Parts: sequence; C-alpha cells; structure tokens
Amino acid sequence: YNQELQLSEKREIISQLAASVAHEVRNPLQVTRGFLQLLEEKNTDDLKRANYLDMAIKELDRASTIITNFLTYAKPQLEDTKVLNLSEELKHVENVIVPLANLHGGVINIDIPDHLHVYGNSSKLKQAFINLIKNSIEALMRGGNIRLWAYGHKGDVIIHIADDGEGMEADVLARIGQPYFTSKPKGTGLGLMVTYRIIEALQGSIVFKSEKGIGTEAIIRLPATAIEENGE
Ligand code: ADP
Ligand code: MG
Repeated sequence: YNQELQLSEKREIISQLAASVAHEVRNPLQVTRGFLQLLEEKNTDDLKRANYLDMAIKELDRASTIITNFLTYAKPQLEDTKVLNLSEELKHVENVIVPLANLHGGVINIDIPDHLHVYGNSSKLKQAFINLIKNSIEALMRGGNIRLWAYGHKGDVIIHIADDGEGMEADVLARIGQPYFTSKPKGTGLGLMVTYRIIEALQGSIVFKSEKGIGTEAIIRLPATAIEENGE
C-alpha cells in the first residue's frame, strides 16, 4: 500500500507510544522505589538485601529498555552512518548477549565471515540484533542452542538467527512486531517493532519461520556495501 498511508500510520503509532511510554515507565520506577524502601528497613538480612537490590536493578533496566525502544522507533534514521564490518559488529553483540544466554543455559554459536559489510549506524544495527537474539534466548526451554550465520547473496548480506526454543503458533507468528504484542508476563512487546523499524531504515527486510515446540528462525536481508580494496 502507498507510502503516504504508511507514514501517517507511523505517526499515529508514535503518538500512541509516546502516551503509553510514560505509563509503562512509571511501573518499574514505582517497583524500584518499593525495593529501595525495603532496603531502608533495619532488620533485613543480607540475602534479602541482595535480592531487593537485584530486583531494583532489573526494574530500572526494564524502564531503560522501554525508553530506548521508544526513542529508536521515533527516530530510527541513520545519523552517524558508516561502513560496518558485520563480523565486528556481531562480536560486540556477542559480548553483551553471552552472559544472558548462559543465565538461561543457552549456547550461542556465531559464524560470520570477515568480508561482509553493510552501511548503517552501529548502535542501531546492534540493537536490532540484540532484540532478536534476546528473544531466542528467552524462548529456550531449559537450555538450548542459538546459531547465527551469514553470507553474501546477489548484492545482499543474509543473516540467519535460529533457535531450538519453544517456537510460535501461527497466530502468534502473525502478530509479532505489532506494538505491545507480547506473550511474556514481563515482556514489553516493543523489541521486534523496533527491530523491524531499524532493518527497514537500512533498506533491508526480515522474515520469520517458526514451529511450535521446534524453534524459530529469523532471516535478515541487508544491502551489502562494497568496500575499497585499500581499506576504508
Ligand atoms: P517481548 O520480547 O517483550 O515479548 P518482542 O517484540 O521482542 O517483545 O517479541 C514479541 C513476541 O514474539 C514475544 O513475546 C514472543 O511471543 C514472540 N517471539 C519473538 N521471537 C521469538 C522466538 N525466537 N521464539 C519464540 N517466540 C518469539
Ligand atoms: Mg523481546
């Protein structure tokens, strides 16, 4: 359908999101406040203290995620863009994500050749991948595997992210990426919305394949950028 319509739909989503972000962020802030108050109490043992602190930090992280996702949706466009080496970008992503995977008993296997380059904003690109891989990790049931691999194909770079997590029913698969659609008790339903938006701003696309009980695979296509033989 036409671009004008798409634009006005996006503006509509942004204004709805802006209104609800305030509300969404207030929750974790209030929960954090509650935990900090509990810390003030005199006869709280160390174990409980550590637990309250941990939960307070998690809630603040959640508030921060909601805000980051909102800002990216509102402004996904590519300031500070340059030629990015995909394998280097994904190494940074790996550093952030491996501790989380370990926490869920998951193993991540990343196999990205050195010669693939795309053009874009480094932190936005990483955010798109972190949101995708986080979902894979969260889908793992008592451990499992996540595999990332990539190759060049007809002027594009193709990246696969496959997990053997819980997978999705067709009705869930049809709704992912819609603002606030989540099947998780503590989900935000903003991660994929933002990922789609970032990939779209990069002139790329994503498709998902998923089967309940088997796993999920995201296939991301981005335009490849040629880099000069003598460096950048
Ligand atoms: P959130 O993670 O906060 O729920 P997302 O936008 O990141 O929001 O994801 C939306 C929903 O898509 C998830 O709640 C989940 O139901 C589904 N989903 C996304 N990725 C996967 C995956 N790899 N495996 C299973 N379900 C997934
Ligand atoms: Mg998510």
